[in-house]
Amino acid sequence: MEKYESNNFIEEIVVNDLESGKHTDIYTRFPPEPNGYLHIGHSKSLSINFGIKEKFNGKCNLRFDDTNPTKEDVEYVDSIKEDIRWLGYEWDEELYASDYFGKMYEYAVKLIKDGKAYVCDYSAEQIRDTRGTLKEPGQESPYRNRTIEENLALFEGMKNGEFADGSKVLRAKIDMASPNMNMRDPVIYRVLRAHHHRTGDQWCIYPMYDFAHPISDAIEGITHSICTLEFEDHRPLYDWVTEACGFEKRPRQIEFARLNIKNTIMSKRYLKKLVDTGFVSGWNDPRMPTLCGMRERGYPAEAVKEFCSRVGVAKANSEVDPALLEFCVRENLNASADRAMVVENPLLMIIDNIPEGETIEFSVVDNPNSESSGTHNVILEREVYIEKTDFTLNPPPKYNRLVEGGLLRLRGAYIVRHVATEKDANGEPIAIHCEYIEDSAQGGVNAKIKVKGTVQWVGKNHAVECKLYKYDSLLKDVVDDVTDFNLRLNEDSLQVVDGAKAEPFVNAGEFGKAYQFMRSAYYKKAKVEDGKMVFYRIVSLKDSFNK
Ligand code: ATP
Ligand code: MG
Repeated sequence: MEKYESNNFIEEIVVNDLESGKHTDIYTRFPPEPNGYLHIGHSKSLSINFGIKEKFNGKCNLRFDDTNPTKEDVEYVDSIKEDIRWLGYEWDEELYASDYFGKMYEYAVKLIKDGKAYVCDYSAEQIRDTRGTLKEPGQESPYRNRTIEENLALFEGMKNGEFADGSKVLRAKIDMASPNMNMRDPVIYRVLRAHHHRTGDQWCIYPMYDFAHPISDAIEGITHSICTLEFEDHRPLYDWVTEACGFEKRPRQIEFARLNIKNTIMSKRYLKKLVDTGFVSGWNDPRMPTLCGMRERGYPAEAVKEFCSRVGVAKANSEVDPALLEFCVRENLNASADRAMVVENPLLMIIDNIPEGETIEFSVVDNPNSESSGTHNVILEREVYIEKTDFTLNPPPKYNRLVEGGLLRLRGAYIVRHVATEKDANGEPIAIHCEYIEDSAQGGVNAKIKVKGTVQWVGKNHAVECKLYKYDSLLKDVVDDVTDFNLRLNEDSLQVVDGAKAEPFVNAGEFGKAYQFMRSAYYKKAKVEDGKMVFYRIVSLKDSFNK
């Protein structure tokens, strides 16, 4: 047999099961509820389940856990599939818990016949009130000892729509004194008249998650049913269901700690609220921690996967620094993104010794970090833009850019010397005059002249007008123990910079392409708006992640 190395405790269980001969084929599943879009937390679960499939040459199903018809929608089904494909995972079968509604009904009937389930007329409130506490046992329902015949007739009546919503439930008959609250005769079926996105109005009873999930897993032959820690206390019930239903091959539930990222919303319900209230432009707003939001922002799928792999799989909850995700994005883009010169806040520089209408072209490498990089030309002309902050009349100590009478290298082109400054009424520079130094481009005899700074620049007549969308976290830090999302929303999470100038190189790239804007950040070429090229800031250049 092949020797496997396990990277975490789940893989260790899988390896043991292969080595002991308990399983020869490994089968996992990813079970999203189609009630929202996938977020970065789901990518953790995807990476574990599909990671096991890939590593152990197994299978992984995509199973929609669609047992809660009031919140579910095909819009979500479609988006979930698109997002999983984006990450590059391929599921073996696309399945729906609702496909098994018929079988689940039969299993419920079997439980009744075996004396393991009964119809209870208690309201949700009465059930809650008689459940007991962690210290005290619950009270048995007066309906607990109905005869099998009566239960069968009532359950069929529930199915046939003879009872009002909420008036009756089917409960597993387990143990009202169990120290595990989930085992105190849990509800496994409820009456609910709701239109289902797949089964329509065929059913007016729906199984509960704790009943539907183990049955779905067992029907599909799932060997390892991986879920998050909140379900640890449900495992005895999970095992009870597969045993009581009489499955020969029973899946094993394994829990891991869910991914939490600081200042990041990981609840579909709350993300939906941000969409519904218009705080963000949609599920794919580039600030959203959804997979489609990150894709829109320009995060490479590979970077998201790398992040999941670096986070690892743990049994205890913890909070990850978002800087780790940014670090992975930056690493990926550093290797793949072409460099472009963009001036955000332009100051006009007139190079007096270049005649009007003349241009000088220089070839530069698109991406110095890529061996297969191409080249493109930058076009120098008499009037160019540099960043306002790259020139000053009053240099602070150690200022290493342009000062009056000083030298500066225009990246990829010549060294220029400052000769004069045009100022406005307040004495602020509105344009500067320079002269370029002959033969000071790379390889020229004057290229080695000592210059303190090298800056990006854009030729005025060739400049591409752009708008830069800069994003910040949707949530502000917790202050004074205030954790409520509603009180932490960052109203300044989007800043639009109008009037930036880009070199014409950005015209050639396709929409969606990522660039490193030199000395600034990674940006994605997003769209054209009001005749201007819009770029989304993917991530800054500065690394705040502490390795
Ligand atoms: P939400 O609370 O955002 O609605 P959920 O857990 O209800 O999330 P599901 O659609 O049920 O969402 O999740 C599908 C799978 O993804 C489940 O197996 C779930 O455990 C897993 N998952 C969801 N959120 C996270 C997370 N933050 N970290 C790891 N796995 C997660
Ligand atoms: Mg869920």
